[in-house]
Amino acid sequence: MVKEQTESFFGDNSPLRNANAPDGVAFKYEPRQQQVDMAYAVADAFDNNENLCIEAPTGVGKTFAYLVPAFFHACQTEKPVVITTHTISLQDQILNHDIPLLAKFLNVKIDAVVAKGRSNYLCLRKLNEIADMDQSLLPDDNITGDLGRLVSWAEKTKTGDHTDMNRPIAPQLWNAVCCERGNCLNGQCPFFASCFLMAARRRIGKARIIIANHAFFFAALATDARLATRPDAESHEREKLLPDFSALVIDEGHTLEDAAANHLGIRADSLTIRRILGRLYSDERKTGLLAAERFSEARELVVDARRRATLFFTSLLNWMEPQNKNPLRYFVPNHIENYLATPFAKLEKSLAALADDEEDAAVKVELECLKDAVEEQHMALDVFFTMARQDFVYWMEIFGRDKNEISFNCIPVDVSPLLAERVFRKPPVIVTSATLAVNGDIHYFMNRIGATNAKSMILDTPFDFKTQVQTYIAKNMPDPRELDAFLDKAEGHLRHFLTLTNGRTFVLFTSYSMMNNLAKRMETFFEENNLTLLLQGDGLPTLKMIEKFKSTERSVIFGTSSFWTGVDVPGDALSSVIIMRLPFANPDHPLELARTERTAALGKNAFFDYTVPEAVLKFRQGFGRLIRTKDDTGIVVILDSRIIQKRYGQTFLHSIPECPVELID
Ligand code: SF4
Repeated sequence: MVKEQTESFFGDNSPLRNANAPDGVAFKYEPRQQQVDMAYAVADAFDNNENLCIEAPTGVGKTFAYLVPAFFHACQTEKPVVITTHTISLQDQILNHDIPLLAKFLNVKIDAVVAKGRSNYLCLRKLNEIADMDQSLLPDDNITGDLGRLVSWAEKTKTGDHTDMNRPIAPQLWNAVCCERGNCLNGQCPFFASCFLMAARRRIGKARIIIANHAFFFAALATDARLATRPDAESHEREKLLPDFSALVIDEGHTLEDAAANHLGIRADSLTIRRILGRLYSDERKTGLLAAERFSEARELVVDARRRATLFFTSLLNWMEPQNKNPLRYFVPNHIENYLATPFAKLEKSLAALADDEEDAAVKVELECLKDAVEEQHMALDVFFTMARQDFVYWMEIFGRDKNEISFNCIPVDVSPLLAERVFRKPPVIVTSATLAVNGDIHYFMNRIGATNAKSMILDTPFDFKTQVQTYIAKNMPDPRELDAFLDKAEGHLRHFLTLTNGRTFVLFTSYSMMNNLAKRMETFFEENNLTLLLQGDGLPTLKMIEKFKSTERSVIFGTSSFWTGVDVPGDALSSVIIMRLPFANPDHPLELARTERTAALGKNAFFDYTVPEAVLKFRQGFGRLIRTKDDTGIVVILDSRIIQKRYGQTFLHSIPECPVELID
């Protein structure tokens, strides 16, 4: 049984206590009761075929606690265990740190892989076609520049995974040469034997532990659902993204609801449509799949579809602009007609007929793939404008650097029934994260994700927050909605605390406008005090900002949502976290509106039963940025007085670890 093996692994004669770490892996075993408790609970869930939601605070060592029983379970069932995470950094940690350690301690080889979407891998057939082409016929000038570098990389790479490249190539080029669904010749492909995607699939096929991100996992679920409607068993095996697995572990589970909403929804957008039509034919450059003379009729259809798409999207952008709402919720079915339905239907029919008659296998599969792509966008637009799905929320959103693209989004308002059916109906499923509970209760979270049939457990923190953290709450702050008065006072507090801590601070905002406003006001202060401000949205991506923060003395990060969660700065580099406002979600976003409406429709109080618990979970994430190890110390400053003035503030305060709190003016 998994429990017995796990007990013997963590027990008195544990290999953990005597073994040396594998070469190059930093390791020092510190027995932690919480880790052992978690490992045993996970083992029980595996043995009893049960679902389990478990809050495991930072420092428990949760990955190792589930990895040990997961490995035993995979060996016993001879089927892999799938672990999904939200961040790449956690995947790296599991693959490159935890699994080598476990293999060393057990003295076994553990087959483990990170499963990635097809588009991460180079398609040798497509690369070959592009490299052989007359370069003036390439669909985009940006492609030519990097092509030579790509060809020489392709000769050397062992994985064909673009993340292994030293320097990334132009996305337009990668999109033209990567593997994609429905565009593979399989056994008929001359590169089949050396295909990177097939090799990756073989590695997944024999792995005991498969690590994926939530997006990949939901893509795998969607593929399974699509294949279930097809009788052809051979294509099932070929196209399935994940093999049958014996158990699922969802780490960073606090992101599960949003990941599910995004990936179980439907979306069309102007950029994707333009790209698909461009691959078919560009009348400007006379390039594309249909450039050959024999496709002249279909070419006309592409030209017509593009003209109509441009007209349609421009008029929608012009209509949205004066309303000053982005995203804009779409309320009334058929209020707007899908102007692209007819040209897309004609194009699909023509592409299907051409594919049927085509003898060249590569052209045939490309025609089918692009027909499917047009069909997918067509279907998504139909669903959107007719509001065909019950219990979905619909909105249009302008995006892109020049704000000239538009997307059409249909998202399930409540993912719990879908997750209950597609995920939790097949135990054992373990969901874990450092922050799942509100006010000491995990059931709010379990209901949101449909894990109502799961057992639950909340572990204690192994840290001593009473000595590691000092919290300050500003008790006389103006209401954050009185922006100028709020910022005047907040600026004073920031000046004081940033001077006190010599920077080394995350300042967490809930909106870009407040953040940019304060950054501007404080420019001179930063200069005069030799502090470096790293401002989110100022050009550096999140990970680069973190690297710079760690390596630059006296630095301060001003960040919004991506800094509340998932970023990790242990040690002295981060000594203070300043929370500007309680992190209530933007109440005007269509998804938030729809979720509050749904909560009210169920007879609950939308504010207390949805808005507050969501904000509490995010607040706990933000608070949790400070203490990452048992040696970390620092301060948390809360500049939103509602936490002590309003009744709901107690829920926030009761949800963070016990530590000294001082009220300040
Ligand atoms: S087998 Fe499929 S993915 Fe692999 S190189 Fe050939 S066409 Fe591309």
